[in-house]
Amino acid sequence: MSALKAGATIGILGGGQLGRMLGGAAATLGFDVSIYCPEKDCPASRVASQHCIAEYTDIDALLGWAATCDAITYEFENVPVEAARALIEAGHLVRPGAKPLEVSQDRLVEKSFLRACGIATADFAEVNVAMDIAEPIKAFGGQGILKTRRDGYDGKGQARLEAGDDYEAAHKALKHAPCILEAMVPFEREVSIIIARDRNGEAICFDVPRNEHVNGILKRSVVPSGLSDEVALRAAESAKSLAAALDYVGVLALEFFVLEDGTLLANEFAPRVHNSGHWTPEACATGQFEQHMRAVAGWPLGPVTRFHDVEMLNLLGEEALVPPEVLAADGVLTLYGKRDAKPGRKMGHLVRRRP
Ligand code: AMP
Repeated sequence: MSALKAGATIGILGGGQLGRMLGGAAATLGFDVSIYCPEKDCPASRVASQHCIAEYTDIDALLGWAATCDAITYEFENVPVEAARALIEAGHLVRPGAKPLEVSQDRLVEKSFLRACGIATADFAEVNVAMDIAEPIKAFGGQGILKTRRDGYDGKGQARLEAGDDYEAAHKALKHAPCILEAMVPFEREVSIIIARDRNGEAICFDVPRNEHVNGILKRSVVPSGLSDEVALRAAESAKSLAAALDYVGVLALEFFVLEDGTLLANEFAPRVHNSGHWTPEACATGQFEQHMRAVAGWPLGPVTRFHDVEMLNLLGEEALVPPEVLAADGVLTLYGKRDAKPGRKMGHLVRRRP
C-alpha cells in the first residue's frame, strides 16, 4: 500500500479527546477525518468531516463506514478485537492492527507478553476466585493490588489489599471478574515512554516524561524526568522491542515504575497516543498526534527534538471551568469540548514551559 496523499480520509474508531486531537493533527497534514463511535455529539466528531454513529459490534455498519476511509486507526484500546479483525479481513488498512488491542485489553495477557519481550514487570498472579489471593499475597510480602483483567482504567477496577483482608469482599466489589493480583511496587517515580514506529520499522522515542497520578488518574507530566541517560535508554529499548514484537505502526505508550536503583518495571502499555504525551505538540518539532497520523498515512516520521523543558497539567472535572483567559496567560490551554464536567473527568490540559 502506497503512502496516502493529502486529501485522503483517515478513519478513527473512537470519539474522545484523543480522536479530537488526532483530528486536529490530521487536518494540519491535509487529511480529512471520519469518526466511528456510538455516541452522538462526541468530542472528536465535532472536528471531523464525517461521523458514523453505530456500535463497534455492528460489522455491517463498520464495513460501510470503512469503504469511505483510505486508512483506519483507533484512539482507545477497548475497540473490540473482532471489529478490527473484520476490517482487516475485508482488506482495509488498520494501523496499528488487531494484535495490540488483543494484548493490551487483558492485563494477564499484556504482562505475559511484556515478559516474553524481555521487559520486566511487577510479580503477578492470576485470580479467578478469592481463594486464589492468599498464597501470592504472602509471596509478594503481604501487600498487593487486585485488578480486573479487562476494562480497568484511571485506577478503576482495582483494590489495594493486605494479607488477612477480606479477599472475598474485595473480589465481590470487582463483580467477581477475572483478575490479577500484582505485587505492590515501592516505586521512586513513574515514567512513560512514547514511541512512534513507521511502516518500515523505523522507530523514534520522545523524551521521557515523569508522571504523577492522584487516585489512579494522571495529574501531571514533567520533562525532563530526572532519569539518567542510561535508564532512559533502557526504557527506549524496551519500547522498541515491544513495538517490534507487535509489528506496530503508529504511536504507543509504555508506562514504567522506576525503583530507587534504576530498575524499570513495566506497568502497562497503551496502543495509542497517550495523556502523558500531551506536551509534545507544544514542546517538540513533531507532536505525538502528528506522528501517529504520519505513521498511519505511511509517511516518514517527523523529528522529535524537544525545544524546552515542559510540564503538562490535566484539568479534571470543574478545574476546566477556570476562565480560559486566566489559564491561557500561563501556558497553552487545550479543552476537549466535553459538555459535562463530571468529577475526575479529563476535560482539558495545560502545557507550561519550565524555566
Ligand atoms: P494502572 O491502572 O495499572 O495504570 O494503575 C494506576 C496507578 O495506580 C499507577 O499509575 C500507579 O500509581 C498505581 N499502581 C498500579 N499498580 C501498582 C503496583 N503494582 N504497585 C504500586 N502502585 C501501583
